[in-house]
Amino acid sequence: THPGVCDRAWVEIDLGALGENVRQLRGLLAPETDLMAVVKADGYGHGAIPIAKTVLEAGARALGVATVPEGIELRQAGIEAPILVLGAVQSPPQIEALVRWRLEPTLCDRPQAVLMAKILDQLAPDQPLPVHLKLDTGMSRLGVLWTEAVPFVRQVLAFPQLRLASVYSHLATADEEDITMMRTQEERFQGAIAALKSAGITPPKLHLANSAATLCNRASHYDQVRVGLSLYGLYPAPHLRSQVKLQPVLQVKARITQVKTIPPGTGVSYGHRFVSQRETRLAVVGIGYADGVPRLLSNRLQGLWQGGDRVWRFPQVGAITMDQLMLDVTEVPEVQVGDVVTFLGTLGDTSISADDWAEALGTISWEILCGFKHRLPRIQV
Ligand code: PLP
Repeated sequence: THPGVCDRAWVEIDLGALGENVRQLRGLLAPETDLMAVVKADGYGHGAIPIAKTVLEAGARALGVATVPEGIELRQAGIEAPILVLGAVQSPPQIEALVRWRLEPTLCDRPQAVLMAKILDQLAPDQPLPVHLKLDTGMSRLGVLWTEAVPFVRQVLAFPQLRLASVYSHLATADEEDITMMRTQEERFQGAIAALKSAGITPPKLHLANSAATLCNRASHYDQVRVGLSLYGLYPAPHLRSQVKLQPVLQVKARITQVKTIPPGTGVSYGHRFVSQRETRLAVVGIGYADGVPRLLSNRLQGLWQGGDRVWRFPQVGAITMDQLMLDVTEVPEVQVGDVVTFLGTLGDTSISADDWAEALGTISWEILCGFKHRLPRIQV
């Protein structure tokens, strides 16, 4: 589907780095603690199938996705590991598909449990469905309030069609240096589990930690951690860098398609938001916002180019357009059509990371990674 894959622009995926990240993260865990790899949103933009296969080979025991189609994609690729659907699955067609493809749902209300039990009666009466109860301990997103854990779990256990596989919750502030709210969420989780135990219910598995908590808080690991961002080699926050050495898995590259010289005073790109101050050599590059390079980075993006042993950092000039952008390459006359520019990644000792883009945009690296479009082929290196 991608003739001449590296002719224009592409994403390079280093599965070796991914495997190493999994091993590094596993090194933080007790031997009996499982690692669930969160591969939703097409493996955070990296391509879910190769990511999932690699993390499982490297020691992940389960996968987390957001939606049923994301889970089906992995099953169709022959992946047999347990797959938890972290998002809500509430309509009959979704539940039917979930049962057929042996995906495991997050449970967060009673009508959902009733519907699942009914569908299981028709589709798989002898095979109880493993379900994962989500408690809201402070994220105020999906989940039953932690104070209602006991009555809710009792309701769920009343359905023989459902098997309680785990109880989990999600942290809202684990990447912040102030750990007060994380502690509060942990106490609430702990309190809900204690209440369940007093009611004679021992969940087979407990999980709470995302990447940030996995890195900074061993007490939050319980029986499994659910890591996303750190697998892909990024840190949830700068203060968590010291815990473990992670390597970015993804690089974004594109080729120069034209080089030309413009006189001083020449406007560049839509709206002429850049005007050359001197005679300027421009390189036109075949990548744009429809590939996932945010237009808001116009006049702030940089591209790395290697000549011999030296790496140059060229400023991008003018508005980033849908499919193309321009770099000011005046400094280096050797730059020519066909050369490769790295927009995210490392050349020699020089790097541009998703954190750099995120900082410039006032967003988070998670959003940058998920922003690369399917038009960019993912190439394994
Ligand atoms: N668990 C849940 C429920 C999530 O929604 C996510 C991602 O948003 C994760 C775990 C992984 O989080 P992170 O990418 O911060 O490791």
